[in-house]
Amino acid sequence: MAALDGLPPLRDVIQRHGLDARKALGQNFLLDLNLTQKVARTAGSLEGVTVFEVGPGPGGLTRAILALGAAKVIAVERDARCLPALAEIADHYPGRLEVIEGDALKTDFAALAPQGPVKIIANLPYNVGTQLLVNWLLPARWPPFWQSLTLMFQKEVGQRIVAQEDDDHYGRLGVLCGWRTLAHMAFDISAQAFTPPPKVTSTVVHLTPKENPIPCSIDKLEKVTQAAFGQRRKMLRQSLKPLGGEVLLQKADIDPQRRAETLSVEEFCRLANSL
Ligand code: SAM
Repeated sequence: MAALDGLPPLRDVIQRHGLDARKALGQNFLLDLNLTQKVARTAGSLEGVTVFEVGPGPGGLTRAILALGAAKVIAVERDARCLPALAEIADHYPGRLEVIEGDALKTDFAALAPQGPVKIIANLPYNVGTQLLVNWLLPARWPPFWQSLTLMFQKEVGQRIVAQEDDDHYGRLGVLCGWRTLAHMAFDISAQAFTPPPKVTSTVVHLTPKENPIPCSIDKLEKVTQAAFGQRRKMLRQSLKPLGGEVLLQKADIDPQRRAETLSVEEFCRLANSL
């Protein structure tokens, strides 16, 4: 794609701007522009779409998103060293790339969202990825400001996101994602594709918001999943004792001898609504 978008190869960009990867910032860069295009394509059509990207780094994924026709990319990057490299991309695509220097965890994405369709695409820094996902899933207003999330995670986190009942990876994250979204793992990316390679395989997860999730209070759902999965090997009558134990389970019409990992999302919502 270096030839296609007319920008220099990423390896040159990294060298010229001295962007040696910093572990503390979760910096594992994707330099293969075919691969970054594959990630961006997972989000579907980007025509007329504003894309939020977290952690553009030297801009490999940013370039793919712009080359695939996104109307605009708003990228939040914490590492100021990356800004000159990103400015070159912004010059190449006038008016289509806005870079905000800052911490994505402190960024109010909903407030930045323009009118019109918004998608979020990111190769997330692993140390903040799950928290960002949870933040995007929690707004009181639903459907949210975004049409889809296309996010890269460590594979184990991806498995927890898409997990359903009776799956070893099923837990609080799976319940939250299953309640409000349809989520699937699109494809894996081997560690060797990154510079420097991380220790684990990564996976791209694609989530779209459910139009009408089961009505349920987020706080109560969090309470029951926290208690139930906090002692996931115990029977629910034991793990849910602080929340009412057998009385609560009876109200929700759930067998007190069952364990957390056997309950469907619908049953967790019933428990939350019985609190
Ligand atoms: N998007 C690039 C790619 O695919 O090659 C870089 C991805 S790298 C895994 C994660 C990026 O997120 C780094 O550029 C890092 O500086 C940035 N980052 C780390 N923590 C951040 C935070 N809290 N807010 C915004 N960006 C962050």
